[in-house]
Amino acid sequence: MEEFLAQLPALAKDKHKSNKKFFSKLKKKPPKNLDVLMQELHDDEFERTDCLDCANCCKTTGPLFTNKDIERIAKFLKMKPQAFIDEYLRIDEENDYVLQQVPCTFLGHDNKCLIYDVRPKACAEFPHTDRKKFQQISHLTLKNVAICPAAYNIVEEMKKRLP
Ligand code: SF4
Ligand code: SF4
Repeated sequence: MEEFLAQLPALAKDKHKSNKKFFSKLKKKPPKNLDVLMQELHDDEFERTDCLDCANCCKTTGPLFTNKDIERIAKFLKMKPQAFIDEYLRIDEENDYVLQQVPCTFLGHDNKCLIYDVRPKACAEFPHTDRKKFQQISHLTLKNVAICPAAYNIVEEMKKRLP
């Protein structure tokens, strides 16, 4: 996994042009079975890929924290929401709450999330490869393939299955 992670940004850069073309075609004419296909590709990939061997998303990028996320996590940590914000979050260019630093403060040395049961929705859903109408998040996926080995593999498989 480490070797793959080290190569991933360069691999994703190589594929960027073809991925962009592929997603632009997909957006114009998404196949009827896209939701079913994505669920299948996602499930197959995550049978092979163990996030505990990776944690690259937690190490290199952070999630957005919604107000609901903040309330839930603060309660779990027995903190007031504002105290949680002050200690861990900042507001980014798009006016969203994000982590003050990466790797995420809540990532354990064993790659386990210390707040797993109450983690932000964006963490639970990352890399979003099983979401419905996947063609709508192509701009996000183009970036995610450089971070997430599973997303990279899924997009490569998509291109084979939907030539
Ligand atoms: S979601 Fe992707 S980047 Fe995050 S730990 Fe799993 S495989 Fe790695
Ligand atoms: S909250 Fe947990 S799952 Fe989300 S980035 Fe931090 S360690 Fe990873």
